[in-house]
Amino acid sequence: MAHVELRGVVKKFGDVLAVDRVDISAEQKEFVVLLGPSGCGKTTCLRMIAGLETITEGEIYIAGRKVNDILPKDRDIAMVFQNYALYPHMSVYKNMALGLQLQKFPKDEIKERVEAAAEILEITELLNRKPMALSGGQRQRVAIGRTIVRDPQVFLFDEPLSNLDAKLRSQMRIELAKLHRKIGKSIIYVTHDQIEAMTLADRIVIMNKGKVMQMGKPMEIYNNPANLFVAGFIGSPTMNLLDVKIMEDGGKITLAGDCFMLEAPPDLASRCMPYKEKKAVLGIRPNHICQAGMDLECEGKPQVELEVEVVEPVGSEIVIDTSCGKDQFTACIDPRSTVKVGDKLMFTIDLSQIHLFDAESGKGI
Ligand code: ATP
Repeated sequence: MAHVELRGVVKKFGDVLAVDRVDISAEQKEFVVLLGPSGCGKTTCLRMIAGLETITEGEIYIAGRKVNDILPKDRDIAMVFQNYALYPHMSVYKNMALGLQLQKFPKDEIKERVEAAAEILEITELLNRKPMALSGGQRQRVAIGRTIVRDPQVFLFDEPLSNLDAKLRSQMRIELAKLHRKIGKSIIYVTHDQIEAMTLADRIVIMNKGKVMQMGKPMEIYNNPANLFVAGFIGSPTMNLLDVKIMEDGGKITLAGDCFMLEAPPDLASRCMPYKEKKAVLGIRPNHICQAGMDLECEGKPQVELEVEVVEPVGSEIVIDTSCGKDQFTACIDPRSTVKVGDKLMFTIDLSQIHLFDAESGKGI
């Protein structure tokens, strides 16, 4: 059994089905990120694990023990919230020590634990300051320190970086990854920021409308999205999703868009056989479309003529929006390109990188 396990968990708030038969697990020492759009049920899942919300149906286990009816304080978990909730009139030391004092830990042990946590978080020199005299990132570290001193089985983080500016967020991301390695505990972390999810997670759980859409290692999910929702959610710029019809002619499968015909590579063609004459959605990431003639890697690949509508140089690449007929393609192309709005140019599609989804169910073909 996994260290933390949600089995068939349902949460209803009156008529609102916030979490719909969710199975989620986190192994010991694993960093699991719950990722999804606003309102998909991430925080509700975290709060049910913490015991701050009752469970309508299903079971939650922590370290092999069913915790459905166990009080939050007895679950051996610690939760770090979005707003750090530090006591402003207390020093950093006192903020970190308070929980242990309330649990009547001996003074010496409290000092030892606070100092050890401060060292891990590199805030030893801040222990006598009040929260007002700290930066946002330092306050966040104190909030984490307060949980580390308790040495819980599981850490729960609810969007802990969302109040920080972009630069600090990326620094704290690195620190959280280091922290996880140092403390070696299971972490369940909620965010709607896919960069946080991709960089921090051992495993990502992608949620939508209360349901788990896919669970897997970050690159597994990026490379093999199981359905249309995940395909459109993970990756920036987002994956191009184009309506096509699957056609067969003399054993060959072609994918016909509004103004392109692409022959499916053999492995995909065999998976397409049951879908002949049906509608599907073709997915291709913007970095798998090249401007013909610009890059050796793109040579020999099928070409489509596209009209350039928007050109955005971002330094390491140029992001362009293009169209052909009703189809819209975003592409990330070589920064040396001199494309201009209005150009009609040939672009290559890397067929080994295309994804295909059933237009009706959204499931991967
Ligand atoms: P966000 O990223 O915006 O925090 P989330 O994915 O964490 O969103 P939840 O906060 O878990 O989503 O909410 C899931 C659904 O449950 C939403 O439709 C929300 O409006 C609803 N909900 C959450 N808490 C309550 C509540 N106490 N009473 C009624 N509905 C609630």
